[in-house]
Amino acid sequence: MTDLNDGSIVYWQKASFYLNITNRCTNDCIFCVRNYKTGVFGFKLKLARDPTEQEIINALRKYLTQAFNEVVFTGYGEPLERLEVVCNVSREVNKLFPEITIRLDTNGLGELINPDVDVIMELKQAGINQVSISLNASNAEQYYKICQPKFGIQSFEALLRFAKSANQFFKINYTIVAIPQIDIQACQKLADEQKISLKIRHYSGPELVIE
Ligand code: SF4
Repeated sequence: MTDLNDGSIVYWQKASFYLNITNRCTNDCIFCVRNYKTGVFGFKLKLARDPTEQEIINALRKYLTQAFNEVVFTGYGEPLERLEVVCNVSREVNKLFPEITIRLDTNGLGELINPDVDVIMELKQAGINQVSISLNASNAEQYYKICQPKFGIQSFEALLRFAKSANQFFKINYTIVAIPQIDIQACQKLADEQKISLKIRHYSGPELVIE
């Protein structure tokens, strides 16, 4: 699975093949799995450093097979911290297995992370098929408290803009994590207004306290 000091670049579960291309993220979500587990599905995901593009492609060539039906940019960090790598690796996946679905899991702040780039167009041209956006709040103040974005209070509006734009080009969905601090009904209402489906994810970490 191509380890970097014990952290896996690629990992899998059933028919899904996951890419862990960075541990960097612009957020510090209170529920983040990185806070309480060193990995998932039996794989360790804490990387000593970002893998190079070539290391990621080598891992793909070694482990990705036709038995998988989707490749997902996800892992223990925000993939759009490395937009160019996401795009180049996506092109490689399309070359290896043109029929496979490619999904990006993101915090939706790609345009704040990459301010001089048309992120949506880059992703589209690279062959990404689906985008899953971590929502987790129904307003800017709650988002700021729960996801603690380094870009500050403007982050939530940027996320909504990104989702609106992505909704024109990809199959998209929002996700939220089922913790008491997140108002599931308010998030559902927001998602319905935008005609974006909402998936609720289970939380298995320790009890959370925020002020
Ligand atoms: S956006 Fe994802 S990786 Fe980043 S802190 Fe939140 S849950 Fe963790």
